[in-house]
Amino acid sequence: MAETENAFRLVISRGEIEKRISELAEEISRDLAGEEPVVIGVLTGAAFFLTDLVRRLTIPCRIDFIKASSYGSGTVSSGEVRFSKDLDLDIRGAKVLLVEDIVDTGLTVKKTLDFLSGKSPSTVRVCALIDKMERRREDIEIDYSGFAVETGFLVGYGLDWDEKYRNLPDIHAVEMRTGGGA
Ligand code: IMP
Repeated sequence: MAETENAFRLVISRGEIEKRISELAEEISRDLAGEEPVVIGVLTGAAFFLTDLVRRLTIPCRIDFIKASSYGSGTVSSGEVRFSKDLDLDIRGAKVLLVEDIVDTGLTVKKTLDFLSGKSPSTVRVCALIDKMERRREDIEIDYSGFAVETGFLVGYGLDWDEKYRNLPDIHAVEMRTGGGA
């Protein structure tokens, strides 16, 4: 990459992403058959995953987004979660499917679940494309998990580094290079 000394290593290809999303959609459609869930995406990263996922659901659903962020401009969580966009839909009594791009410490999902529970949905299930277990701090349950990844900072398919690289179609690990900088 011209603008950085860091290299990207392919971790999950677009084909693997597509295949796994089809499997998840099938499982969710089966589990929620006869229901009309509200699918809630956590902006910005999960928008990519959510739109691909809902297109493969065979059940009707409503869609909304919430914006939460826990990262500053680096690759290490600030430890704080900020909500800057609330839901537009009323989810009282609804079955909710919360869609996240990646769960790292689990803080964002935990805070989002707390936030949503204040709106009295009947149930909330969590669907995350990537479950990054290495730094998990919160004891949260992920009902539908796309890929388990042990370590590393990932970019692409919605995942950003300082708001960049979300538009890459595959998921890559950033290999940080120290020393030898420009
Ligand atoms: P958590 O609160 O520590 O679980 O972090 C969740 C949020 O941090 C995700 O929704 C992402 O926005 C961001 N994040 C965590 N790990 C990564 C990564 O490897 N790449 C890009 N963003 C990440």
